Amino acid sequence: MKPAPFDYARARSVEHALELLGREGARVLAGGQSLIATLNMRLSHPSLLVDINEVAGLDRIARRNGHIEIGALVRHAQAERSAELGQAAPLVARALPHIGHPAIRNRGTVGGSIAFADPAAELPACLLALQGEVDIAGPAGKRTVKADDFFHGLFETALGACGVLTAIRVPAATSATRVGFAELARRHGDYAMVGLAAAARANGKNLTDVRLAFFGVGATPVRARNAEAALAAGDVEAAVNALGHDLDPPDDVQATGAVKKHLAGVLLRRVARQLNEAPQ
Ligand SMILES: Cc1cc2nc3c(=O)[nH]c(=O)nc-3n(C[C@H](O)[C@H](O)[C@H](O)COP(=O)(O)OP(=O)(O)OC[C@H]3O[C@@H](n4cnc5c(N)ncnc54)[C@H](O)[C@@H]3O)c2cc1C
Repeated sequence: MKPAPFDYARARSVEHALELLGREGARVLAGGQSLIATLNMRLSHPSLLVDINEVAGLDRIARRNGHIEIGALVRHAQAERSAELGQAAPLVARALPHIGHPAIRNRGTVGGSIAFADPAAELPACLLALQGEVDIAGPAGKRTVKADDFFHGLFETALGACGVLTAIRVPAATSATRVGFAELARRHGDYAMVGLAAAARANGKNLTDVRLAFFGVGATPVRARNAEAALAAGDVEAAVNALGHDLDPPDDVQATGAVKKHLAGVLLRRVARQLNEAPQ
């Protein structure tokens, strides 16, 4: 199928993009790896695509004030190759190779993944596990939204219709940071049936500030708060049992909700082992 007709404009700056997005039915075009597919399948009919690929300054990875900031236009492949990101955001580095295939990672952007907010995507769950935040430029000015408040529902976020996501930010890892990541997909590169991104802080032999963000189990990434408490108390099997209260995954084309719940427990045992390992 071919997309419905649309206009195209190349934004010169974030301000110019915001001006163009003022038009009814306008949408941001970043890497196009999700948007173009929805256009071709006629699942969306934007009147205007606002291409932000040439907006300067959105493709940088920078460490400042104890955080690592990733510009919206940083490609997945660029992030994967960044030694700085690998050191400061090891959870993101572990998740990136699971996103699609190399061709998709060459074009797809970090900002696009967060803005699109596919409930089975890896990066939104990492952002949530890491207590990250999102910078948004909008008609009323700039604002920063915490990951806990960003994901509202299925493909719905705090961005709003006319917002441009300019960067995400996560606290830089320290020697006490522990992370874990695992997902189950039918084939490598497919969207996950179920996945888990996790972060914690080592405190002697214990873990504190445990955050477990499951993906592929609901309309948004889902925190498993009872399991987090059980893991912080050092009881992995209690954490697995707590998933019965924390998660209520609906059936989908990949698996039934019951199977997803079982797989979530399998992943939690794997990730709990990772969280208890000191980084090399
Ligand atoms: C075969 C295939 C397999 C894939 N597998 C995975 C996978 O396993 N895991 C995964 O996470 N993803 C997967 N993807 C999607 C891929 O990661 C996309 O790159 C990503 O979801 C969207 O990024 P993009 O830059 O391509 O955004 P686009 O496709 O350009 O945009 C996606 C949406 O986000 C909006 N948007 C993009 N950037 C911004 C911004 N800066 N500000 C405001 N709105 C913005 C657009 O308007 C659009 O609505 C797959 C894609 C394909 C084609």
